[in-house]
Amino acid sequence: MRHITHIFIHCTATPQTWGYKELMAEFRNKGWKAPGYHYAITPSGELLTLADEDTVANGVKGYNQHAIHIAYIGGISIRNGKTTPLDNRTTQQRQTITRLLRQLRTRYPQATILGHRDIWGSNPNKWLKACPCFNAREEYSGI
Ligand SMILES: [Zn+2]
Repeated sequence: MRHITHIFIHCTATPQTWGYKELMAEFRNKGWKAPGYHYAITPSGELLTLADEDTVANGVKGYNQHAIHIAYIGGISIRNGKTTPLDNRTTQQRQTITRLLRQLRTRYPQATILGHRDIWGSNPNKWLKACPCFNAREEYSGI
């Protein structure tokens, strides 16, 4: 078993209509050997497993060796061809994320739960990405 120090929350930064096929195709198109996330959660709350937890996924450069990556499908608003960050998690997505985090917490009691953007600290001016478009560190601090 890998030693897990971090559990990262992401958004896929894609339309909410994307599913397993589209996500895996995107990772292949990027030339990645492993998916960007271990788990993705659809707007209906379905949990998709993209990689097993012993696989090193491609979510956050420099952290992947010791990280589990979770993404909700969505995280952007597309208007007039312009894409902006948006926390559009559905109630079902929120429930599945919380349930998954509680399960992971039992397997990795020492792991820190962070949003992707939190690797750059708490100052939004320092964030290179908005992902996951909400304060995951705070929201999941009790898990
Ligand atoms: Zn991310």
